Amino acid sequence: VRVPVVLGSMLLLVAGVPAQEASLLEVDLDALVPPRWIGATTDDWPLQPERQRRRQPPECQTRGGYRDHCQGARHVPEPRGPEAALAARLDLGRRATALYLLHRVPLEPWMDAVADFPEERGLLFPVDDGRLGRGFGRTRRGSLRRRRHLGVDIGAPEGATIRSARSGLVAYSDNGLVGYGNVVIVLHRGGFSTLYAHASRTLVFAGQRVARGDAIAEVGMTGFAPAPHLHFEFRQRGLPRDPTPEFRRPR
Ligand SMILES: [Zn+2]
Repeated sequence: VRVPVVLGSMLLLVAGVPAQEASLLEVDLDALVPPRWIGATTDDWPLQPERQRRRQPPECQTRGGYRDHCQGARHVPEPRGPEAALAARLDLGRRATALYLLHRVPLEPWMDAVADFPEERGLLFPVDDGRLGRGFGRTRRGSLRRRRHLGVDIGAPEGATIRSARSGLVAYSDNGLVGYGNVVIVLHRGGFSTLYAHASRTLVFAGQRVARGDAIAEVGMTGFAPAPHLHFEFRQRGLPRDPTPEFRRPR
Protein backbone atom coordinates (compact mmCIF):
# COMPACT_ATOMS: atom_id res chain seq x y z
CA VAL A 1 0.00 0.00 0.00
CA ARG A 2 2.85 2.35 0.84
CA VAL A 3 4.77 2.01 -2.41
CA PRO A 4 2.37 3.89 -4.66
CA VAL A 5 2.21 6.74 -2.18
CA VAL A 6 6.00 7.12 -2.17
CA LEU A 7 6.12 6.82 -5.92
CA GLY A 8 3.38 9.37 -6.20
CA SER A 9 5.20 11.95 -4.12
CA MET A 10 8.43 11.29 -6.02
CA LEU A 11 6.64 11.91 -9.27
CA LEU A 12 5.25 15.11 -7.85
CA LEU A 13 8.74 16.18 -6.82
CA VAL A 14 10.17 15.36 -10.23
CA ALA A 15 7.32 17.13 -11.96
CA GLY A 16 7.76 20.15 -9.71
CA VAL A 17 11.37 20.84 -10.64
CA PRO A 18 11.24 21.92 -14.27
CA ALA A 19 7.81 23.50 -14.06
CA GLN A 20 7.48 27.27 -14.35
CA GLU A 21 7.85 28.68 -10.87
CA ALA A 22 4.96 30.75 -9.68
CA SER A 23 5.63 34.47 -9.45
CA LEU A 24 5.85 35.89 -5.96
CA LEU A 25 4.56 39.22 -7.23
CA GLU A 26 0.89 39.70 -6.60
CA VAL A 27 0.59 42.16 -9.44
CA ASP A 28 0.80 42.01 -13.22
CA LEU A 29 3.98 43.94 -13.83
CA ASP A 30 3.17 44.70 -17.46
CA ALA A 31 -0.15 46.24 -16.43
CA LEU A 32 1.72 48.61 -14.09
CA VAL A 33 3.80 50.10 -16.89
CA PRO A 34 2.00 52.98 -18.62
CA PRO A 35 2.85 53.51 -22.32
CA ARG A 36 4.35 56.94 -21.66
CA TRP A 37 7.21 55.37 -19.68
CA ILE A 38 8.23 53.35 -22.69
CA GLY A 39 9.04 56.49 -24.65
CA ALA A 40 10.72 58.12 -21.67
CA THR A 41 13.25 55.48 -20.75
CA THR A 42 16.22 57.70 -21.35
CA ASP A 43 16.99 61.36 -21.07
CA ASP A 44 18.88 61.06 -24.36
CA TRP A 45 15.85 60.04 -26.39
CA PRO A 46 14.43 60.97 -28.82
CA LEU A 47 16.27 64.27 -29.04
CA GLN A 48 19.91 64.08 -30.00
CA PRO A 49 22.16 66.85 -31.20
CA GLU A 50 22.37 66.88 -34.99
CA ARG A 51 26.10 66.21 -34.96
CA GLN A 52 25.62 63.00 -32.95
CA ARG A 53 22.72 61.90 -35.10
CA ARG A 54 24.83 62.15 -38.22
CA ARG A 55 27.33 59.65 -36.78
CA GLN A 56 24.72 56.91 -36.55
CA PRO A 57 24.47 54.36 -39.36
CA PRO A 58 21.90 55.50 -41.95
CA GLU A 59 19.36 52.84 -40.99
CA CYS A 60 19.32 54.28 -37.47
CA GLN A 61 18.69 57.86 -38.46
CA THR A 62 15.20 59.24 -38.26
CA ARG A 63 13.93 62.76 -38.04
CA GLY A 64 14.54 63.74 -34.42
CA GLY A 65 15.15 60.29 -33.03
CA TYR A 66 16.36 56.75 -33.42
CA ARG A 67 14.88 53.45 -34.31
CA ASP A 68 14.49 50.77 -31.67
CA HIS A 69 16.86 48.32 -33.29
CA CYS A 70 19.82 50.71 -33.29
CA GLN A 71 20.96 49.80 -29.83
CA GLY A 72 24.30 48.32 -30.77
CA ALA A 73 25.27 44.69 -30.32
CA ARG A 74 23.54 42.86 -27.49
CA HIS A 75 26.13 41.20 -25.25
CA VAL A 76 24.54 39.82 -22.10
CA PRO A 77 25.07 36.49 -20.31
CA GLU A 78 22.38 33.84 -20.47
CA PRO A 79 20.60 33.49 -17.08
CA ARG A 80 20.89 30.04 -15.50
CA GLY A 81 20.78 28.11 -12.25
CA PRO A 82 19.07 29.05 -8.99
CA GLU A 83 19.69 32.76 -9.64
CA ALA A 84 17.64 32.58 -12.82
CA ALA A 85 14.91 30.75 -10.89
CA LEU A 86 14.89 33.50 -8.28
CA ALA A 87 14.67 36.11 -11.03
CA ALA A 88 11.69 34.27 -12.53
CA ARG A 89 9.93 34.16 -9.16
CA LEU A 90 10.46 37.88 -8.66
CA ASP A 91 9.85 38.89 -12.30
CA LEU A 92 13.34 40.34 -12.49
CA GLY A 93 15.23 40.70 -15.75
CA ARG A 94 12.22 41.87 -17.71
CA ARG A 95 11.85 45.15 -19.55
CA ALA A 96 8.81 45.97 -17.42
CA THR A 97 11.00 45.47 -14.32
CA ALA A 98 13.54 47.97 -15.60
CA LEU A 99 10.88 50.53 -16.55
CA TYR A 100 9.24 50.15 -13.17
CA LEU A 101 12.52 50.72 -11.33
CA LEU A 102 13.19 53.86 -13.39
CA HIS A 103 9.96 55.44 -12.23
CA ARG A 104 8.61 54.00 -9.02
CA VAL A 105 9.39 52.79 -5.53
CA PRO A 106 10.63 49.19 -5.88
CA LEU A 107 7.92 46.59 -5.24
CA GLU A 108 7.73 45.08 -1.76
CA PRO A 109 8.98 41.57 -2.74
CA TRP A 110 12.04 43.18 -4.38
CA MET A 111 12.78 45.20 -1.26
CA ASP A 112 12.44 42.04 0.84
CA ALA A 113 14.90 40.22 -1.44
CA VAL A 114 17.65 42.74 -0.62
CA ALA A 115 16.80 43.37 3.03
CA ASP A 116 19.60 41.04 4.20
CA PHE A 117 22.40 43.01 2.52
CA PRO A 118 24.60 45.09 4.82
CA GLU A 119 23.79 48.76 5.18
CA GLU A 120 26.37 50.68 3.14
CA ARG A 121 27.29 54.33 2.96
CA GLY A 122 28.26 56.16 -0.18
CA LEU A 123 28.80 54.70 -3.62
CA LEU A 124 31.96 53.07 -4.86
CA PHE A 125 33.14 55.02 -7.91
CA PRO A 126 32.14 52.46 -10.56
CA VAL A 127 35.12 52.74 -12.95
CA ASP A 128 38.54 52.65 -11.27
CA ASP A 129 40.29 55.20 -13.49
CA GLY A 130 37.18 56.78 -14.95
CA ARG A 131 36.82 60.51 -15.23
CA LEU A 132 33.67 62.29 -14.19
CA GLY A 133 32.19 64.12 -17.17
CA ARG A 134 28.75 65.60 -17.66
CA GLY A 135 27.04 65.89 -14.32
CA PHE A 136 23.55 65.51 -12.97
CA GLY A 137 20.75 67.88 -13.86
CA ARG A 138 20.22 70.44 -16.58
CA THR A 139 23.71 70.60 -17.92
CA ARG A 140 23.12 70.24 -21.63
CA ARG A 141 23.57 72.68 -24.44
CA GLY A 142 21.56 73.55 -27.54
CA SER A 143 18.37 71.64 -28.24
CA LEU A 144 18.87 69.40 -25.21
CA ARG A 145 19.08 72.32 -22.80
CA ARG A 146 15.71 71.63 -21.26
CA ARG A 147 16.12 67.89 -20.82
CA ARG A 148 17.45 66.78 -17.48
CA HIS A 149 20.44 64.50 -17.37
CA LEU A 150 19.28 61.91 -14.86
CA GLY A 151 22.71 60.55 -14.14
CA VAL A 152 26.39 61.29 -14.54
CA ASP A 153 28.76 60.35 -17.33
CA ILE A 154 32.07 58.70 -16.52
CA GLY A 155 34.61 58.69 -19.32
CA ALA A 156 36.74 55.55 -19.67
CA PRO A 157 38.24 53.44 -22.45
CA GLU A 158 36.19 50.75 -24.16
CA GLY A 159 36.38 47.53 -22.16
CA ALA A 160 37.22 49.16 -18.81
CA THR A 161 35.65 47.29 -15.87
CA ILE A 162 32.40 48.63 -14.43
CA ARG A 163 31.94 47.74 -10.76
CA SER A 164 28.81 47.63 -8.68
CA ALA A 165 28.68 50.77 -6.54
CA ARG A 166 27.03 48.87 -3.69
CA SER A 167 26.16 45.29 -2.93
CA GLY A 168 22.79 44.17 -4.16
CA LEU A 169 20.66 42.04 -6.42
CA VAL A 170 20.86 42.33 -10.21
CA ALA A 171 17.37 43.33 -11.34
CA TYR A 172 18.05 43.79 -15.04
CA SER A 173 20.86 43.07 -17.49
CA ASP A 174 19.84 43.43 -21.12
CA ASN A 175 19.44 45.92 -23.94
CA GLY A 176 15.69 46.51 -23.91
CA LEU A 177 15.75 50.20 -22.92
CA VAL A 178 16.09 52.46 -25.94
CA GLY A 179 19.13 54.69 -25.67
CA TYR A 180 20.82 52.82 -22.83
CA GLY A 181 22.32 49.99 -24.92
CA ASN A 182 23.51 47.07 -22.79
CA VAL A 183 22.50 48.14 -19.31
CA VAL A 184 22.62 46.70 -15.78
CA ILE A 185 20.33 47.74 -12.95
CA VAL A 186 21.23 46.66 -9.42
CA LEU A 187 18.76 46.87 -6.57
CA HIS A 188 20.17 47.77 -3.16
CA ARG A 189 18.94 47.67 0.40
CA GLY A 190 16.69 50.52 1.46
CA GLY A 191 14.94 51.14 -1.87
CA PHE A 192 18.09 52.28 -3.68
CA SER A 193 19.06 51.27 -7.20
CA THR A 194 21.97 51.96 -9.53
CA LEU A 195 22.04 51.81 -13.32
CA TYR A 196 25.02 51.29 -15.63
CA ALA A 197 24.42 52.08 -19.32
CA HIS A 198 26.13 51.91 -22.74
CA ALA A 199 28.16 48.80 -21.77
CA SER A 200 30.00 46.89 -24.49
CA ARG A 201 28.84 43.82 -22.59
CA THR A 202 27.36 42.93 -19.24
CA LEU A 203 28.87 40.24 -17.01
CA VAL A 204 25.94 39.43 -14.74
CA PHE A 205 22.32 38.38 -15.11
CA ALA A 206 19.13 39.10 -13.20
CA GLY A 207 18.81 37.23 -9.92
CA GLN A 208 22.55 37.27 -9.14
CA ARG A 209 23.78 38.82 -5.91
CA VAL A 210 26.77 41.10 -6.27
CA ALA A 211 29.13 42.60 -3.71
CA ARG A 212 30.25 46.20 -3.75
CA GLY A 213 33.16 46.35 -6.20
CA ASP A 214 32.23 43.24 -8.20
CA ALA A 215 32.74 43.51 -11.96
CA ILE A 216 29.30 43.68 -13.56
CA ALA A 217 29.94 45.08 -17.07
CA GLU A 218 32.49 46.67 -19.39
CA VAL A 219 32.51 50.23 -20.70
CA GLY A 220 31.26 50.68 -24.25
CA MET A 221 29.14 52.91 -26.43
CA THR A 222 25.98 50.90 -27.11
CA GLY A 223 22.73 52.83 -27.18
CA PHE A 224 23.04 56.55 -27.79
CA ALA A 225 26.62 57.31 -26.85
CA PRO A 226 28.92 59.42 -29.00
CA ALA A 227 32.02 57.94 -27.33
CA PRO A 228 32.76 55.13 -24.84
CA HIS A 229 31.57 56.09 -21.39
CA LEU A 230 29.51 54.86 -18.48
CA HIS A 231 26.20 56.62 -17.94
CA PHE A 232 25.48 56.03 -14.25
CA GLU A 233 22.19 56.66 -12.47
CA PHE A 234 21.41 56.48 -8.77
CA ARG A 235 17.86 56.30 -7.44
CA GLN A 236 16.26 56.29 -4.05
CA ARG A 237 12.73 54.87 -4.07
CA GLY A 238 12.46 55.61 -7.79
CA LEU A 239 13.68 59.20 -7.64
CA PRO A 240 16.90 60.02 -9.50
CA ARG A 241 19.52 61.55 -7.20
CA ASP A 242 22.85 63.18 -7.86
CA PRO A 243 25.41 60.46 -7.07
CA THR A 244 28.41 62.81 -7.11
CA PRO A 245 28.50 63.66 -3.38
CA GLU A 246 28.16 59.95 -2.58
CA PHE A 247 31.15 58.74 -4.60
CA ARG A 248 34.07 57.08 -2.79
CA ARG A 249 37.19 56.28 -4.75
CA PRO A 250 38.85 52.97 -3.88
CA ARG A 251 42.03 53.41 -1.88
ZN1 LIG B 1 24.67 60.35 -19.63
